[in-house]
Amino acid sequence: MTCREAERLVLPFIHYELDDETAAQFLEHVEHCADCREELEIYYTVEEGIRQLDDENTDISDIKGAMEEDIMASRQRLYTIRLMNIVRYAADTLIVMGVTVMLLLQFRLWWQNGIF
Ligand SMILES: [Zn+2]
Repeated sequence: MTCREAERLVLPFIHYELDDETAAQFLEHVEHCADCREELEIYYTVEEGIRQLDDENTDISDIKGAMEEDIMASRQRLYTIRLMNIVRYAADTLIVMGVTVMLLLQFRLWWQNGIF
């Protein structure tokens, strides 16, 4: 992902509008690109500031902490989704292997009984 693409995704990311794949690529980029991370922090601070203006109880000083938390939550969610996909893939593989073994054993039984 280029910086141009990442910059375009900053606001959608803050508004939770990105699909999982794009969000993963975006997080990957801002993790390694200081410029885009700064961009994200600026936008996040502005957005969060506006959101918290009406709410006097919220602590405005910890916006960066809130952003880190948001990023962590996103990353956690994406990690869980990836893990679920791996588990599903493993389960699918096991099912296919199980059915194959069952069929082979069945064929062997038929063969032993002289059906083939
Ligand atoms: Zn960048």
